[in-house]
Amino acid sequence: MKILVINCGSSSLKYQLIDMDGEKVLCKGLCERIGMESSMITHEANGTKATTPAIFPTHTEAFAEVVKKMTTGAGKCINDVSEIDAIGHRVVHGGEKFKSSCLITDEVINTLRELSPLAPLHNPAGILGIEAARKVFGNIPMVAVFDTAFHSTMPPKAYMYAIPYEYYEKYGVRRYGFHGTSHRYVSGRMAELLGEMPHRLITCHLGNGSSLAAIKDGKVVDTSMGFTPLDGIIMGTRCGSIDPSIVSYIANLENLHERGMNRLLNNESGLLGVSGVSSDFRDVLEAAENGNERAQLAADMLEYQLVKLIGSYAAALGGVDAILFTGGIGENAMGLREQVMHDLAYLGVTADLAANNSRGEEVRISGADSKVEVWVVPTNEEIMIARDTAELIK
Ligand code: AMP
Repeated sequence: MKILVINCGSSSLKYQLIDMDGEKVLCKGLCERIGMESSMITHEANGTKATTPAIFPTHTEAFAEVVKKMTTGAGKCINDVSEIDAIGHRVVHGGEKFKSSCLITDEVINTLRELSPLAPLHNPAGILGIEAARKVFGNIPMVAVFDTAFHSTMPPKAYMYAIPYEYYEKYGVRRYGFHGTSHRYVSGRMAELLGEMPHRLITCHLGNGSSLAAIKDGKVVDTSMGFTPLDGIIMGTRCGSIDPSIVSYIANLENLHERGMNRLLNNESGLLGVSGVSSDFRDVLEAAENGNERAQLAADMLEYQLVKLIGSYAAALGGVDAILFTGGIGENAMGLREQVMHDLAYLGVTADLAANNSRGEEVRISGADSKVEVWVVPTNEEIMIARDTAELIK
């Protein structure tokens, strides 16, 4: 069975074709700058990788180009689209309606449209992707896999905000949590690696966007992203948790309205805003090493907030049996992991520094005498989407 996994942004389309027999990636790629000038496609297959210019007025032309790349030339990996059994779409927001992945029907698309106000930056792009895929691929069954779904087990005391209850009822204002597909994949992998699901697990997905999840017996009980992905820990350009009155305070002083404030908090804050150097953690670390104090502060804030959040989730779980790191930062930033393990000594964490000296590998980094298992588990959201899709079309 061959599954095409799609992740659509408003101007981008990421894809991966997976042969479920052995879960082998046949090709993957990215269409960028859709609807803009100088759009391009990067396609990787058969050991070749090439970026070529292309004209993509909309996602439909981008999908047509993906088909061309998959069926012709050096990156050819199938003879015809009829070899694709199903398409799995990453959808950011499932609201309270979608608690697990589902087959896409007209009714599902309508419900996604209704949910768009909850994720105005993300869900409309997902819908665009689904509709364009329908145009290009015809009747191939399609499945939606939601970023929010894995967090739907949170109890109300964790997902409610202490604002008047009517705003939950009228507008759905509550914590939803995101990155659910990643937290689900790595927690499942943790269970495989340890032989059973840890009773109390904290998963740390640290990348451009970052979130933590507190997971009890395989079910999320709390997570750090909230009503939107802006909440929680400091991220590349997102501020994470701040005192909400800062919003109206700065808005008044700087004469910024909704759009301006959203840009400030989503695109100009986080590691970038504090360091003034970059949103990319590698750049921040390099600048800090070269003596840039604000870059050092940004890196320190990330480490501090991480330790603080892990501590609060350990409290929420009544202790912790395993902690795992994933995402670009979690999988690669050895120094950050070492510092976090050092600061968690009070929980009985000890580190295996030799094991921690690795990047992007599945490895236990806690010491043999550690009371808590600490692991690095590279995430794989695509395989999770492909598995759900295969399961649902069976
Ligand atoms: P992601 O969004 O999961 O792709 O993660 C991107 C983040 O991972 C960026 O902030 C990168 O700087 C960070 N990253 C990648 N490699 C490293 C590395 N070797 N050391 C520190 N951070 C890294």
